Amino acid sequence: MLKVVKFGGSSCADAAQFAKVRSIVQADPSRRVVVVSAPGKRFRDDHKITDLLYLCAAHIKYGVGCDDIFGLIRARYRDIARGCGLDIDLNGEFDVLWEKIQNGISKDEIASRGEYFSAKLMAAYLGFEFLDAALWVKFRFDGSVDQEASYEALRRAADGRGVVTPGFYGVMPDGHIKTFSRGGSDITGALAAAALDADVYENWTDVSGILMADPRIVKDPAPISHITYNELRELSYVGAQVLHEGAVYPVREKHIPLNIRNTNDPTHPGTLIMEKIDDDADKSDTFITGIAGKKGFSIITIAKTSLSSEHGILLQIMEVLEKHRINVEFILSGIDTVSLMVSAAEVSRQLYEVLGELQKRLKPNSITVSEHIAIVAAVGRKMAYRLGTSGKLFATLGDNGVNVRMITQGPDELNIIVGVEEKDFEQAIRVLYDSFVKEK
Ligand code: ASP
Repeated sequence: MLKVVKFGGSSCADAAQFAKVRSIVQADPSRRVVVVSAPGKRFRDDHKITDLLYLCAAHIKYGVGCDDIFGLIRARYRDIARGCGLDIDLNGEFDVLWEKIQNGISKDEIASRGEYFSAKLMAAYLGFEFLDAALWVKFRFDGSVDQEASYEALRRAADGRGVVTPGFYGVMPDGHIKTFSRGGSDITGALAAAALDADVYENWTDVSGILMADPRIVKDPAPISHITYNELRELSYVGAQVLHEGAVYPVREKHIPLNIRNTNDPTHPGTLIMEKIDDDADKSDTFITGIAGKKGFSIITIAKTSLSSEHGILLQIMEVLEKHRINVEFILSGIDTVSLMVSAAEVSRQLYEVLGELQKRLKPNSITVSEHIAIVAAVGRKMAYRLGTSGKLFATLGDNGVNVRMITQGPDELNIIVGVEEKDFEQAIRVLYDSFVKEK
C-alpha cells in the first residue's frame, strides 16, 4: 500500500502546522511519499512565501533592492526550524541564493525556492529523504511535462523509501528550473502518485473536502463525500473552484482515487474522487453532488423562417464565430431559431462586427442578444434517469421568482444547466441548495 500525500501552503505555514503534518504522516506507514508547498499564510493578512519570492523577483527586475523581503523569507524558515526543534542550518544555502539573486536569477528559479526549503525542513522533521523535484519533474521545451521520463526518474529515485519532494517546479531539458502555474504543487503530487502507481493520492488542505456549493453564496455548505472524476469536471467547467485540471489528469488516467483532506481536522474523511463509485460506498442520500455556476454570458438568438430545413446554417454561424475566436458554450435550437450562449467578455469587443457578419451571411428575420446571463448547474450522477429531478428544479426556481432563460441537460443526465439573469444568480444557487440538499 502506498499513499502519496501532498500538503498545501496553509499546512506548511509554521511549526505548529508542520507538527500536524508529521502526526498525519506518522499515523499511517503507507504515507511514504510527501509533496509540500511553500509556507502559506498563518493568518489573514499574512504573506505567502511564494508571493514574497515573486516580489523579490519584481524588485530585481526593476533594479530595486529586496534585502528586507529576503530577510522576512529567511526568518520564516528559521522560525519553522526552531519551532520544530530542528538542528538544520539553511544559512549557507540562503547565502548562495542571495548571491545568485545579486547576479541574476530567473523568476521561476526564485519562486521555486519556497517549496525547495519547505521540503528540506519537512524531510529533516519527518526523518525522510529530501528529493529535489529538479531531479525528477522533467519538462519538455514546449513547457509540457514529459510524463514518461519524470515517472521513470521518480521510480528510480524514490525506490520504496520515505521521501519528501518539493511541489510546484521541475527542470527544463537545458537544466533551468521551471515552475507550474500558481497552485501547481497539486500537479506535482498527482504526477508522483501516477508515477508510483499509488493506491491513493491524498491532497491535504485547510478545508474538509470540496463543498457542495460556493460558501460565499450558501452558508456552511456541506462537503461532498464522494464524487466521480466526470462530475468534478462538470462542476469545475461551470465555475466551481476546485482542482487544477493538470492536478487531476495524471491520477485520473491511472484510475487512482484522489482524496481531499483537512490538515486541521485529520479525522474528517474529506472528499473522495474516483472514476466510479459504488452505491454502497457512498452513504449520502442527496442525489445532487454539487451546485455551481458562473456569470458573464450573452445569448445570441437567430430567427429565420425555415431555418431548420436549410442545410449548412449551423456551419455558417460557426464559421463566423470561429473567425472571431468566440467559443460557443451551448447551442440550443428551436424550430426556426437557434440560440448560442457565448462568453460576454469574448463577444463584447466585437459584437457589432459579429452580428453584422451573421446578418450578411444568413439573412435572418431577426437577431437578438440577451446580455447579463449566468449559468447555474446541478451536477449529480444519481440524477441520471431519475424521474422528477428537473420538475423539482424548475418548480424551485419558479416558486422563488427566478426566471429561467435557457435549459440544457447533457445526454448522460449528469447535469442540468439553466441560464438565468445575472441578478438572480445567487438566489438560484441558494434555493436549489436548500431544496435539494437541506430539505431533500
Ligand atoms: N507555492 C505555490 C503557490 O503559491 C504553489 C503551490 O502552493 O501549490 O502558488
